[in-house]
Amino acid sequence: MAAKIIDGRNFAAGILAEVTAEVSAIRAAGGRVPGLAVVLVGEDPASQVYVRNKARTTKESGMESFEYRLDVGTSEAALLSLIAELNDDPRVDGILVQLPLPKHIDSARVLDAISPDKDVDGFHVLNAGRLATGLPGLVPCTPLGCLLMLKHELGDLSGLRAVVLGRSNIVGKPMAALLLAESCTVTIAHSRTRDLEAVCREADILVAAVGRPEMVRGSWVKPGATVIDVGINRVPGDAGKTKLVGDVAFAEAADVAGRITPVPGGVGPMTIACLLRNTLAAAKLAKIKA
Ligand code: NDP
Repeated sequence: MAAKIIDGRNFAAGILAEVTAEVSAIRAAGGRVPGLAVVLVGEDPASQVYVRNKARTTKESGMESFEYRLDVGTSEAALLSLIAELNDDPRVDGILVQLPLPKHIDSARVLDAISPDKDVDGFHVLNAGRLATGLPGLVPCTPLGCLLMLKHELGDLSGLRAVVLGRSNIVGKPMAALLLAESCTVTIAHSRTRDLEAVCREADILVAAVGRPEMVRGSWVKPGATVIDVGINRVPGDAGKTKLVGDVAFAEAADVAGRITPVPGGVGPMTIACLLRNTLAAAKLAKIKA
């Protein structure tokens, strides 16, 4: 294996330590500690795990955690009314609605009902527009985590060729916007891209966010490239168990790449760390505006 493994757990722990120190300084100075509200509708098992982890990490950082677990049959109107309450609640700096929402609820309408100043997931159309036009705002946590790791590993990204595989609103598009803001030359690839392998092989930075287990093979990776694997896919493992794999065939790619994130232990831990980083940023903004 040639590549350096980028340890997302260790890096995320460093960010969480910084956030925790700032929260404890706010508390020591007699200030109001930041608060994060997490809303879950229904009982999707993966979502329940994500919400539990987010709430636990929020409390560990010293922030206030507000959890709302709503029945799967909750109406869109009832959810919008809860969001209106949270928008007006001065103890709440960040609001996160766990996706996916049940089919009878319009996710876009719900996300856009969150106050842009409390939109710690960065999914509100105003924050997406700010990112696209180079204005400061809250940035989606997963791409932000990827960018922080890339800058830590590579320093100045200016002029590097970046290929983002995937064009979703929550990962691919904001990732591309962040890399463009760092003056990378960015290509966004997707299911209609022709000769995907050749496109990927041009990348100094390759970010895979497709949701297809081990789709990116070693032959797709330019020697020495930095590979960020966002994918989280559960596949059959040994002895009837399941295991998590990314969108990149790790062992093959690690033979060619210069640096690579593993799954698990790469991008995943960074997402929660960036959520708390965003909540702290939102709390500071609220203080300035008060
Ligand atoms: P989406 O399903 O919303 O988007 C997938 C993207 O991949 C689409 O743009 C799609 O193209 C593209 N794609 C799908 N198949 C192919 C293919 N065969 N060739 C080329 N492109 C393809 O997924 P998300 O962006 O929400 O998530 C992507 C992955 O990241 C998932 O595994 C998800 O679990 C993971 N994830 C991990 C997070 C973390 O914290 N680590 C957080 C969020 C997501 P098209 O638009 O043309 O259909």
